[in-house]
Formats: sequence, structure tokens, C-alpha cells
Amino acid sequence: MIGSSVSVRTRSWIVLYLGLLTASPAAYAANCPGHPDALGTSRTLVVDPRAHPRIGTMQYRETLPLKDHEVVLTFDDGPLPKYSNQVLQILADECIKATFFIIGEQAKANPEGVRKLVAAGHTVGTHSMNHPLTFDRMPIDKAEAQINGGIEWTSAAMTDPSALAPFFRIPGLMRAEGVENYLISRGIQVWSADFPADDWRHVSSDRVYQLAIQRLEAKGKGILLLHDIQARTVAALPKIIRDLKARGYRIVHVVPATADRPATPTEPVEWLLHPPSEAVPIARWPSVPNFVFAQTRTLPAPNLADLNAQPAYQSPLPHRAKALADVAATLPVPDRDLFAIPEGSLEVLLSTTLSRRAATRMAAAEAASGHKGKIAASSHKRQAAHAVPAAKRAKGTAPRPTRIASLKKRPPQQQ
Ligand SMILES: [Zn+2]
Repeated sequence: MIGSSVSVRTRSWIVLYLGLLTASPAAYAANCPGHPDALGTSRTLVVDPRAHPRIGTMQYRETLPLKDHEVVLTFDDGPLPKYSNQVLQILADECIKATFFIIGEQAKANPEGVRKLVAAGHTVGTHSMNHPLTFDRMPIDKAEAQINGGIEWTSAAMTDPSALAPFFRIPGLMRAEGVENYLISRGIQVWSADFPADDWRHVSSDRVYQLAIQRLEAKGKGILLLHDIQARTVAALPKIIRDLKARGYRIVHVVPATADRPATPTEPVEWLLHPPSEAVPIARWPSVPNFVFAQTRTLPAPNLADLNAQPAYQSPLPHRAKALADVAATLPVPDRDLFAIPEGSLEVLLSTTLSRRAATRMAAAEAASGHKGKIAASSHKRQAAHAVPAAKRAKGTAPRPTRIASLKKRPPQQQ
């Protein structure tokens, strides 16, 4: 009798607890003992890497099926005790679960750092053996050795190697089809991101905070790319988290599906950053969801405006150079220049604060005047190259990319 009343009471507490989990942001903080003001983690998203092998709109068509104002925090290049431990403490104080992409060499040098991440309940994926920025052009056997070295040393550091998530982020986002195909053939999900905060550049921590928030606000949700080996990231993180809470954002923890943990049910459309609405002409949306394999290896340079500030009515698919419009279905490898833009340059401005149309106008004016300013010559050329087609598109003179050709040529769906 006593036993059954206890169990009824326990059940009602569980019901109440589950109710709180889906209630208000304040409820998440209530689950963070000793930190009543914590942001908390609002839910766990279980993903099946084989069903959605490439994610992150910086480079791919699909991204995580997040709801508006949901954010996934990711940290690359650790563990490096000096900074990774501070990041861990900040996340612990906020009861936030994140995803870490580990470098094999770092795991080898600091296996305890990997175990700490796992013990704290974070998701741990890998990021190559020693972070070469040449995945887009290295022989595939070298790429495989890099991938496997990272996996080997990271899992070797774990008490239970099955804790390693089949998630991989290519160093520098230097994507290549062969690399992606290899990862996918092994059931490993390729993680790009939805926006970076440029914390690997020589910028202030305040700039990192500003970029994180500006770029998140432009997309409304998504995967934030950070690095747990940078002092500026450690300094910016508490401010980012405070602001996320103030702006009503919620943290989502992502884990891989396993035999006992089925993937969270989702609709294919939820894996697009901005699902089609009645305002979007239906012809712009392919009816076959997984057509992203392009027939070419040479992809166009990125239009930085595509990475940010996309109004909700626009297709998340990249605008691309006219000549390659029919063959390139994934976004390109970010140009190295992307990682070396001087602070305060026009492109930073374009990528963060202006609408696409304003960005296009400014870029066209830049190109017309021949003004180089602080922009590196090569990146200036890239911007100018995009300005013309973009301007033509705006006048309706350039044809819309059509997917029919690539759909016909599409290889069998790769799982
Ligand atoms: Zn990295």
C-alpha cells in the first residue's frame, strides 16, 4: 500500500518534471542546481547520421532540425586544458550541453580532457588527427588516415569508446566530395555549421560575442561554430550565453541515434533552415530531398552574403555563378581568404549587418570603382565576380538555377 502510493507520487513527479521540460525557459534553469539563472539545455535531439549525412548551411543544403530560437553550440580543436577547462566550467555553470570536435593530437596529449567532456555529458565527435587545412586537395588515403587517426586517439582516451559520436567536422571546413563520401560510407555525419563567430581570428572577445549574436539573429536558429582553445572564446562565452537567455534562445543538445536510442522523429522539411512557405515559388524547391551530390568538384566561391542575413522568404540554397548553376548543389569550400579577412573590412560588414540586396549593391559599387580598400585582392575579385550575376538576377535577366539536370544525373541515394 505504502509502496504503491510512493510509486504514484514518483510518477506524478516524473509527469511534473516532463511538463517543466517543455514549459518555459525558466524551467530549464530550475533543473540546474545552484544556478537558478542558468540558461540550461532545453532538449536533446537524437539524429541518425545515415539519414542526414551532411549538415550545416554554411556549406550544405540541410542543417539540424531546430525550431526557431534553438541553438546548438559546437567547439573545435580541443581539448587544450588551459582553455577547454574554462569552457567546461562555463557550460557546467549554465547546465549547457554542447558538441566538441576533437583533434587526435590533442586527445593524445591530453586524454584526461576528453574524459572530462564525456563525464560532463557533452557530445564528442572528431576533427582529424592534426588539423591539416588541405582536406579539399589531399589524396583520399591521406584524408582517411587523418580521419582515422583522430577517431583512434579520441576513442582511446575514453573509458568507454562507444561514447564517441560518429560526427566529424572537416578542419577549416575544407570540404571535398571524396572525403564526405568516405565519412558517409562509414556512417559518420559531416558537420559544417550555420554560422561562425570568427573566434580563430585576431579579433577581440567582444567582437566574437557580437558576431555570434548578429549571425544567430540573422538566421534565427542554428549551429554556432566556436573553438575551445582560444582565450577570446573563453572571454566571450559567458556574455554570449547571457545574451542568448535574454533574447529567448534555447540550447539543444545533439546526440547520435543508437540501437537503444532512436532518432527524434522529424519531417524532411525540418532539415532545411527556412522551410518553404506559400510565399516561395514552389519551382524553386526540389521535390527530391537528397539531391546534393554535385557532378563537379570545382565549385564556385562563396557569396558571403549567403552565409548570413538570409530573410525568411529566401531559399537557403546558395546563389551561385551562372556557369555552374546547374551542377553545384552544395556550397563550396570556404576560400582561405574567409579565414583571413582583416577586421572591419567590407566583407565582414557585408556578411553580418547588411541585407543581401544592400550587400550586392555595395559590392557592385566596389567592383565598378575598382577600389581595393582593405580587402585582399583575391577576395575582392571574388566579391566582384558575384556582384554581376547577383545584380542581373535582381533585374530578372539571369535564368534561375534549375535542378532538373542535376536530378537526372543524380547517383543513387547514398546512405
Ligand atoms: Zn578546427
